[in-house]
Amino acid sequence: MAPQGSRAPLEFGGPLGAAALMLLLPATMFHLLLVARSGPARLLGLPPYLPGLEALWSPGALLLWLTWLGLQAAFYLLPARKMAEGQELKDKSRLRYPINGAWDWALSRELHGWGGASGLAGSVTTWRARACACVGVGVEVKGHSPQDSPYAGGSGFQALVLTALLVGLGVSVGLPLGMLTEMLLPLAFVATLTAFIFSLLLYLKALLAPASALAPGGNSGNPVYDFFLGRELNPRICSFDCKYFCELRPGLIGWVLINLALLVQEAEFRESPSLAMWLVNGFQLLYVGDALWHEEAVLTTMDITHDGFGFMLAFGDLAWVPFTYSLQAQFLLHHPQPLALPTASAICLLNAVGYYIFRGANSQKNTFRKNPSDPRVAGLETISTATGRQLLVSGWWGMVRHPNYLGDLIMALAWSLPCGVSHLLPYFYLLYFTALLVHREARDEQQCLQKYGLAWHEYCRRVPYRIVPYIY
Ligand code: NDP
Repeated sequence: MAPQGSRAPLEFGGPLGAAALMLLLPATMFHLLLVARSGPARLLGLPPYLPGLEALWSPGALLLWLTWLGLQAAFYLLPARKMAEGQELKDKSRLRYPINGAWDWALSRELHGWGGASGLAGSVTTWRARACACVGVGVEVKGHSPQDSPYAGGSGFQALVLTALLVGLGVSVGLPLGMLTEMLLPLAFVATLTAFIFSLLLYLKALLAPASALAPGGNSGNPVYDFFLGRELNPRICSFDCKYFCELRPGLIGWVLINLALLVQEAEFRESPSLAMWLVNGFQLLYVGDALWHEEAVLTTMDITHDGFGFMLAFGDLAWVPFTYSLQAQFLLHHPQPLALPTASAICLLNAVGYYIFRGANSQKNTFRKNPSDPRVAGLETISTATGRQLLVSGWWGMVRHPNYLGDLIMALAWSLPCGVSHLLPYFYLLYFTALLVHREARDEQQCLQKYGLAWHEYCRRVPYRIVPYIY
């Protein structure tokens, strides 16, 4: 059994803060679900009514939720195209993660069989390779075995496509997708329940984990704090990585499915979906599709490399993301907003600018961390650190210290604007996300200062702004 009590400074206000967040986060999620469908749709103020247990608990919702988790787990377990290596762990080992793009491989084989390597498939391959190079994904064209497909799409993207095919099939045989919108409250309830039970099991499992498997911050010895933050860094059941699975699959794909159900329901209420609903669905599908396409990039994020897997991530991934991030579409279903074409075009442009910064910054750092001599990043200026790793000081990372957060925030604004300016509620995501990223940036600074010491001070001197140039 691992020793208790790490010396890492306590975050989120320590055990009291953690306990408060465990109540506050689910309460906020249910508040938003209730007010989004109410007439006044007030972000601040009491919800229109407090649901009784009969409105929250539904065996049908539980069955649907468990089927959903099982389906996504089955997609996760599909044969792996390749295995990606995670960052180095405390014991100098690296975990391996499946990137099973069998769908991509099947597609490429199909095309080769049809057009020949120098024909259609050749041009499709070249086109895809160029597209991948544009977004900064490493593309290596070696052949077409499942192990070395030229395509970079992650298995998460494959799960999204398979889910879309299944849902499409279901709808074509009469599945009432719009009915999902009537079940949001009980589904959110079972998702929250699952997150609590799952976190408890993870905490108990972590008590038996060796010290080398513990997260830097989640083993303070205080059970409430450790339950919240997560004790074990990468809990696995055999080779099934619980955190990697939850980070991008059930919640993110669930989010776009809920959005789609809201769009379908709006079409049933008002003959066709509104332009605002199309924009919200389109923007958020792009965001989720992008995250799943670049699934491997999650391996270098704080969630995977630093935070343990406890209630914070389990609730965030399984409940908060699908039921709170779909708030704009929920709002639009009950509060239709007119949107003129010129305004819609300006909002699309804003989203495109945000996406360009977000993707450019994330891809640049991932390419650099994977291979600093890659021609796409080899010309950038860097600072050496005592750890042997380097820090970028030009390109996106020379503009501000977190250019990816800036792009993400611009997109968050673009997702809210289609909902008009009559209500504050659809701007909840922008407000919450600003607070989250400002706090996350401060946590990351602290960790980088510990890791890189003087070199980090030098980086801050050379790149003085954190997220917004000349402002913050
Ligand atoms: P980042 O991808 O920003 O990674 C931070 C790490 O990058 C640092 O710890 C450091 O790690 C490395 N780094 C920092 N500066 C430099 C530099 N100058 N040169 C090279 N490496 C550097 O972390 P996040 O996990 O917070 O964010 C990932 C993405 O996910 C972001 O786009 C963010 O907006 C998004 N996100 C979205 C959320 C949502 O709910 N929608 C929630 C949270 C994040 P090291 O040196 O060890 O490599």
